Amino acid sequence: MSEKLGIDLWIKRDDLTGFALGGNKGRKLEYLMARAVADGIEAIVTCGAAQSNFIRQLGAACSVCGIECHAAIMQLPFDSSAEKIEVEAVEPGNGNILLDQILGINLHLFPDDDWEVLYDYAAKICAELQAGGKKVMNIPVGGSNFLGAYAFTQAALELAEEFDTIVFASSSGSTHVGLATALHGSKTKVLGIACDPEPEIVHDFAALSESLARETGMPKITAEEFNVNLDFVGAGYGIASEEGMIALKNLAQTEGIFLDPIYTAKAFAALIHLATTGKLRGKVLFWHTGGIPALFGSIPNLNT
Ligand SMILES: *Cc1c(COP(=O)(O)O)cnc(C)c1O
Repeated sequence: MSEKLGIDLWIKRDDLTGFALGGNKGRKLEYLMARAVADGIEAIVTCGAAQSNFIRQLGAACSVCGIECHAAIMQLPFDSSAEKIEVEAVEPGNGNILLDQILGINLHLFPDDDWEVLYDYAAKICAELQAGGKKVMNIPVGGSNFLGAYAFTQAALELAEEFDTIVFASSSGSTHVGLATALHGSKTKVLGIACDPEPEIVHDFAALSESLARETGMPKITAEEFNVNLDFVGAGYGIASEEGMIALKNLAQTEGIFLDPIYTAKAFAALIHLATTGKLRGKVLFWHTGGIPALFGSIPNLNT
């Protein structure tokens, strides 16, 4: 791939982190679950898209720690013009859904809507469990609170080489905030490729950075300082893009390494584009954040 792209390409294999089929969420869970266990938490509630990698790894971590796991999910992508379908039970699924069902995660499926509505559903599930006398922890989408971001400041310490640029898929923000915090003031550019069509995402990242700074004394990063490229989202969050699928096949056919359609394929499509147009040079690290189970889930446009 380095030869093809004319850069010195390295790949950080968080797809091979191991726990519950790997991915970047395992790193966040190391700290999130430690807090849950220390606080004597009996039930954890989170939310996300049906093919969420975080929910899968969270469910596995809850199994290990003997904690009840609940997730508010929507099929997504959200199409506001489509008629809302009333949903009741989660059908036997594929990809991450299959794994969630094997783990026995309590999946609560809601009709597609925007993220704010999904957060409200998660809060409601929390309130119900609390009313039943349980000690509950609500973990935000993607595990992105200061503990999740802290995990990625620690992940950055594993880098034994110095890079010109680190490229990765960015969404709920703790990967980006953690890496950017750890590499603040270095010569390495931390470049997140957005998987959500939301330019205002950098403000969420800045808020997360503020919370990390408050809790740990680490440097605070402003919205303007985050490098986020929004050009490779395609038709929307959770919809495979044609460029992404081409990049996915390209990497598989060059190196035998698989990407996922929702996050890493889009990030790698960006990397290919930027390298071949001379905008990305030198020693580049692609931080592979995992997500492989979604390849086996039903994703719109997967076969383009
Ligand atoms: C969650 C996820 C991301 C995005 O990480 P955030 O910390 O949520 O920004 C990227 N790639 C994969 C495969 C993911 O599951």
